[in-house]
Amino acid sequence: MKKIALHWQILIALVLSVPFGLFFGEDGIVDLTGVFDFMGRIFLNALKMIVVPLIISAIITGVSNISSEKGFARMGLKTILYYLTTSFVAILTGLILVNLFKPGIISGIPAKDVLALTSLTAEQMTALEGKGTNEIFAIFLRMVPPNIFKAASDGQMLGLITFSLIFGFFIRKLSENYKAVQLNFWNGIYDIMLGITNLVMRIAPLGVLGLVALTVSETGFDSIVPLLKFALIVVVALLFHVFVSTSLLLYTVGKMKPVVFMKIMSKALLTAFSTSSSSATLPETIEGVTRAGVPKRVSSFVLPLGATINMDGTALYECVAAMFIAQAYGLEIGFGMQLTIVLIALLTSIGVAGVPSASLVAIVIILKAIGLPDAALGLILVVDRPLDMLRTAVNVWSDSCGAAIIAATEEL
Ligand code: ASP
Repeated sequence: MKKIALHWQILIALVLSVPFGLFFGEDGIVDLTGVFDFMGRIFLNALKMIVVPLIISAIITGVSNISSEKGFARMGLKTILYYLTTSFVAILTGLILVNLFKPGIISGIPAKDVLALTSLTAEQMTALEGKGTNEIFAIFLRMVPPNIFKAASDGQMLGLITFSLIFGFFIRKLSENYKAVQLNFWNGIYDIMLGITNLVMRIAPLGVLGLVALTVSETGFDSIVPLLKFALIVVVALLFHVFVSTSLLLYTVGKMKPVVFMKIMSKALLTAFSTSSSSATLPETIEGVTRAGVPKRVSSFVLPLGATINMDGTALYECVAAMFIAQAYGLEIGFGMQLTIVLIALLTSIGVAGVPSASLVAIVIILKAIGLPDAALGLILVVDRPLDMLRTAVNVWSDSCGAAIIAATEEL
């Protein structure tokens, strides 16, 4: 029998997960939520297990393999420029749509009065407490962790990235014999990590089935309906960013057909969709762009950085969500406030971790900055998870396009 390609297997799992979640949830025919939870968790654990050594070895090999200091600075600048530009374009797309369609106003009345507010659980409240504008400084502080091992065990990727960048940079300064040992060692670790990624991917369909079925069984569909307009605007803006903004860039600068590239990246995109974590998807993103022909020198530098600091989908979502909540609360939203929202969305999308629901913390920062209570976040909690799945896929898509585009310009 012909073997079904892995991305098809994942897609089938994704489709099946909806009826599974609906029929085998807590109130379903048989309660299989324990099984779903186990399947999803083991897949996520396996992915997370790879992430720290992968990020470290990818960046170290990426930096130390760049031949000249000028080359390093050039690629670094291009990468940052791409990240900032696409995130900004994403935010603007969201801003325009949310201003045009005003999802926070229902038949002329602020939605807060129409919708029953979903209040935050005590656990969610404590997690969000004290995350004011100071959090922005905290983001920069995280770039220099006092203890890299703690940073690794806490999943503080930003700190690990800085350390690995510096480490790789100094490998290039070593005398020839030490340098050769270091390069061989780190290149070896990197290849091992990619090998383990391939292994983990074999259980992806089961993992996806578990993760999504559990989400469906917990969220259901009914609660989403009142927030449909908001969700729809986020979805349309995200799709516009994928199929128009970044695709145009990929086609013109990256010299690649977006549809073909998307097909190659499908495994990574589907995994991003089902795990809602760009960090966890990183191994597959690297594997995908390598198959698309992006040289290791570029992918191992651009992608680990991107998984943490380039989040177009997140930036867009933060902006639309904050605007929606402000509209729903009947706030007067002038130019100054919109500018604040745009800037904080841009900054926090750089700082938030690539893990599920990371945007929520960033949205709280924005809400505080514009004078709204944390509890206002309750308005969007119901739809957050499905939108998280989509925005994470967009984050990964933009990272991948970045790798392809930078590779194309490096070859010039
Ligand atoms: N889940 C997103 C990611 O991992 C972050 C977020 O927007 O919550 O990319």
